[in-house]
Amino acid sequence: MNILLYLKDKDFLSTRSQELLNICSFWRKKKLGKLYVAIYQNSMLKKEVENWDIEKIFFLEDKINKDFFDISELLEIIINKNQIDIVAMGNNISEREIAPYLAAKLDWNYIPNIIGFDLQEKEIIWKRFLYGTRAIEESKSSYSSIVVTISANIYKKDERVKNKKIDSEIIKIVYNNILPYVIKTRENKKIQKNSLEQAKTVIGVGKGIGSKENFKMIEELADLMGATIGVTRAVVDHGWRPEYEKIGQTGKIIKPELYLGFGISGAMQHLAGVQQARHIIMVNNNPNAEVFRSCDLGIVADLFEVIPLLIKFLKKN
Ligand SMILES: Cc1cc2nc3c(=O)[nH]c(=O)nc-3n(C[C@H](O)[C@H](O)[C@H](O)COP(=O)(O)OP(=O)(O)OC[C@H]3O[C@@H](n4cnc5c(N)ncnc54)[C@H](O)[C@@H]3O)c2cc1C
Repeated sequence: MNILLYLKDKDFLSTRSQELLNICSFWRKKKLGKLYVAIYQNSMLKKEVENWDIEKIFFLEDKINKDFFDISELLEIIINKNQIDIVAMGNNISEREIAPYLAAKLDWNYIPNIIGFDLQEKEIIWKRFLYGTRAIEESKSSYSSIVVTISANIYKKDERVKNKKIDSEIIKIVYNNILPYVIKTRENKKIQKNSLEQAKTVIGVGKGIGSKENFKMIEELADLMGATIGVTRAVVDHGWRPEYEKIGQTGKIIKPELYLGFGISGAMQHLAGVQQARHIIMVNNNPNAEVFRSCDLGIVADLFEVIPLLIKFLKKN
């Protein structure tokens, strides 16, 4: 089984990518075959990736636009040349654009957001959450023609081997202007100090915050606490925060030490992303809010009173 792992890191190898490398290395070891990695061209990245048992590293050409269309084109070149059976990647927004597009183009199976796998003799059982996290769906596939996206925090083992030099090749695209549309603007991602998946403290914010402008105080609190901000789908749908901050079934799955939520009703689709948090504290002004059923500590209060008090306290201490 030959695997192609696409990593979207630019400067250094994130913990998230290390987990993906560990998973794919395990698959390769179990099912024997070759593991290829496609990354951005950066010698530091290459050096880090060389800690895993990889056949070859493909550098995705630097000059291109690098939207899902370009990345898919580049991956397709590698797939066609190297008899790839499985293409794997994370499940961030960009990867969730690339994976289904690539699968459709190749006419392969698309297996989204897996949280587990069982490599059997002739087939793989893939697991993913359904109905929030209330059910786990199991689906089967063969060992070929698969594009799979992998949820975060699902694999613990370290599959690193002794550092070795690995061959690399630059993959270039030949433009022929067949884009059906042109992207004129694209929202630039603000760099989060800690990604949501790796953050130790996450402040979750729901529609109760009321407006985009009110996020000023959330940002101030996050700064003081060294926390990363995550939001509900309602907040993203209102255009108050970017999609990449969404937590839940269709967003990120997080695993912080502390999840501190404000103005969140507690829909299961949101809680699906939160339930691995060690401590969950929720603030909601409705004593009957669903969220109070799923937290360690519930505070019935107006978030507009609690947050300024917290900020004041943290500044003083
Ligand atoms: C297929 C599907 C997938 C979905 N995926 C996701 C997902 O991945 N992530 C996600 O988050 N949602 C997801 N949703 C949406 C989800 O069902 C809920 O609609 C959403 O999470 C609700 O967001 P909310 O809690 O911010 O808003 P609301 O439900 O409107 O809740 C706002 C809360 O704020 C409280 N509040 C109001 N004012 C204050 C105040 N001043 N102080 C304190 N509390 C206050 C209210 O009492 C209320 O409980 C999905 C839905 C579907 C159907």
